[in-house]
Amino acid sequence: MRFIFIVSIHNREKLIGQGEFECPHCRVGRVYQRKEIRPYLSFYFIPLFPVGKTDDVIQCRTCRNLFEPAAIKRQEREKPKRDSLADLINGLKDRIANGEPADYLIRDLTKAGVDLEVALQLVKPLIEPEPLMCPTCGLNYAPNIATCAECGQPLGAEPK
Ligand SMILES: [Zn+2]
Ligand SMILES: [Zn+2]
Repeated sequence: MRFIFIVSIHNREKLIGQGEFECPHCRVGRVYQRKEIRPYLSFYFIPLFPVGKTDDVIQCRTCRNLFEPAAIKRQEREKPKRDSLADLINGLKDRIANGEPADYLIRDLTKAGVDLEVALQLVKPLIEPEPLMCPTCGLNYAPNIATCAECGQPLGAEPK
């Protein structure tokens, strides 16, 4: 008597997530599925036990191409950066009105990757027409700000 074992290796897929990404193949926004793929030793097509490492892949639901999870991780990292720059620019007016020196705003903008020239163009109009300068710190404020946020010295007071 002879036994014939039909043993093979099959990939088991497990759906672990879904979302939208910019598909590197389609080059537009697509829906992706994130899957865990693990090779299983199968007997008569019944998976018995895993025989290899789990692979984590991203699959475009439109073109069905597989990508490294890095394809979405990279985009997730880039997105908050864009949002925070927009927030930063949108928040400039409030920060000036709350008495923050223009210099700090320019520093934050350039830190976020904005050219100094552009940062100046964004911030300067907010402290016009007559910016106040703290005589001690040299920081610049909007005309309606009473005291320097840095040293607490009254702004715009005539030196006696
Ligand atoms: Zn695609
Ligand atoms: Zn000051």
